[in-house]
Amino acid sequence: MSNLARYLLNRVRSHPDSLAVTGNGQTLRFGDLGERVLRLAGAMRSQLRLSEGERVLICMDNQPEFFELLFACWAAGLCTVPVNSKLHPREVSHIVGDSGVRAVFTSERLVGDLTPELAQLTPPPSITVVGGAAYRKMLESPAAQCVDRAPTDIAWLFYTSGTTGRPKGAMLSHRNLLAMSWIYFADVEHVEPGDTKLHAAPLSHASGLYGLPHLLAGGHQVVLPSFEPDLVFEAFEHHHRVTMFAAPTMVIRLLQSPSVRAPHRGLRTLYYGGAPMYVSDLQRALEAFGPRLWQLYGQGESPMTLTGLAKRDHLGDGGPGHLARLGSVGITRTGVEIRVVDEAGRDLPTGEIGEVVTRSDCVMAGYWNNPEATRQALRDGWLWTGDVGSFDERGYLTLRDRSKDLIISGGSNIYPREIEEVLLRHPGVLECSVVGAPHAEWGEEVVAFVVARPDTDISDEALDSLCLKHIARFKRPKRYLFIDSLPKNNYGKVLKTALRERLKNPA
Ligand code: AMP
Repeated sequence: MSNLARYLLNRVRSHPDSLAVTGNGQTLRFGDLGERVLRLAGAMRSQLRLSEGERVLICMDNQPEFFELLFACWAAGLCTVPVNSKLHPREVSHIVGDSGVRAVFTSERLVGDLTPELAQLTPPPSITVVGGAAYRKMLESPAAQCVDRAPTDIAWLFYTSGTTGRPKGAMLSHRNLLAMSWIYFADVEHVEPGDTKLHAAPLSHASGLYGLPHLLAGGHQVVLPSFEPDLVFEAFEHHHRVTMFAAPTMVIRLLQSPSVRAPHRGLRTLYYGGAPMYVSDLQRALEAFGPRLWQLYGQGESPMTLTGLAKRDHLGDGGPGHLARLGSVGITRTGVEIRVVDEAGRDLPTGEIGEVVTRSDCVMAGYWNNPEATRQALRDGWLWTGDVGSFDERGYLTLRDRSKDLIISGGSNIYPREIEEVLLRHPGVLECSVVGAPHAEWGEEVVAFVVARPDTDISDEALDSLCLKHIARFKRPKRYLFIDSLPKNNYGKVLKTALRERLKNPA
């Protein structure tokens, strides 16, 4: 195994005329893509004077150039740092400083805000606007040769979304990303030249990561500038064998669109994950999209690859076994090991709840420049995910929550997800999130934040009796707080920390 860019160049050679990347009204074929990648790689070395191993940050809107930049960096022996374009310039600046980035690629729309912030760093990185004059000049540079890389060299510094504390840079090597790609082919689907990967979610995360197996297999990347349900449904009609990532909140938005009733002829796979998908939402998604749904459970530290719930696992009779499976995150992915352990790292029996730990070729080498966080996350070769869950007898893993979101009330463990699943059965509940609030007597008490569907009235009593019907009495929320929307980060994950803060400092 060596440089990921080499594997792209294999497809450039074998399929120069296949569609490679479409976006902004333009389409590149593999032959054009290969040429642009090697010219940009040459310019990164000769014009930007970057040396092997140096970091390049990509902070841009969803633009098709994302992929040529990634592979150009790798061909030049550099490490990419893709970040979400919705980050605050100060957050970007923190990442640039933390990872010692020398060059930044960004969009026209963002450069004005980023420049003054990045100018304060010593030394300040170079900034290139993708598609601008300097970028076009780079594309005229002589093509470079793709350099060799060791499998353990870092290809992608993946900054965690930082739902608590400062983001940390998970170091993902060429081997990690290649293993992620192979396991995609083993578990999710085989990709042929001409198959489409539709990108409607940020490329710096789950959507872009699984762009890699698609490109390495000669697939066609279609990049939408933003997530608009109508554009997505249109793409399902226009393109061939479409695979798309949607965070659960995006799936909910698709379901709310009137166009959801279309036949979705071109849709092959809608893979979702990154946050809990509640059973009631999943059932509605199944009605709309049929057996094209694929759930993944992963984290930046082991990109996209811990467990998966396959398309066939979504089908069933609606009975308790089927519903339990829909509430799970599926089975351990090919080539991956997962255990559920107690605090001392001892295996727990089937059905018992503990921390999820994993070992595989996908697991990061550690956090950039952060030996303390690395020591906590990687112990004896296992990645401690911070997620809490249990296996059933057939190896389906059900996640309960992040360990830090667990509520301990009167000495009993309460898993918010269980309560959220119940509240979402109420037809008037659009979204909800359950957290613990400090309580003098019980330690913590259960509080539910609820977003009602437009024009619906929900009473506390109705929610309370729903809970009494489905879960133990002590688990039901002591308070229901109705709000307009849940605070979420840029990837659509609910910020429970912000909800807990709200309880400490009511507005
Ligand atoms: P990130 O590193 O930003 O991708 O966040 C990873 C975290 O998101 C995991 O550790 C889980 O807590 C959560 N997560 C990812 N996939 C799922 C899933 N399918 N169901 C529930 N939570 C998930």
